[in-house]
Amino acid sequence: MAEADVVVDCTDNFPSRFTLNRACLSASTPFVSAAAIRWQGHVATFLPDRADSPCFQCLYPDEGVTAATCAAEGIMAPVVGVIGSMQALATIDVLLGKGAALCGKVMLFDGLAMEWQTIALPRNPQCPACGAGTAPGPSAGA
Ligand SMILES: [Zn+2]
Repeated sequence: MAEADVVVDCTDNFPSRFTLNRACLSASTPFVSAAAIRWQGHVATFLPDRADSPCFQCLYPDEGVTAATCAAEGIMAPVVGVIGSMQALATIDVLLGKGAALCGKVMLFDGLAMEWQTIALPRNPQCPACGAGTAPGPSAGA
């Protein structure tokens, strides 16, 4: 991770994302995360070397979180294309050092409504990964 300029999350499960997040925090490597299911998706950029940057676990603090799967819930294929393209653009933004426009935000896409929404994602001081919190572990969630 320390030798990478950026890590692009193309996994499909939370345990892998938590592991990537911690590795990126440890190595101070930028992390561009994306996910999609059904008609929705989201993209976010995390920059561990920036004091104001949240991390993936600021977004999902509970490592015991269980998620719906594309196998069970389905995924509208064009949504993956939309989210993948936005993730690629966010990655290029990080690589070019253009200010990482997506840091501290989450872009949400609703393919059914054909709408994008951008919400602020501040760093969580109690985050179990980058803050003072303690990781609840995989069995603590509902
Ligand atoms: Zn965090």
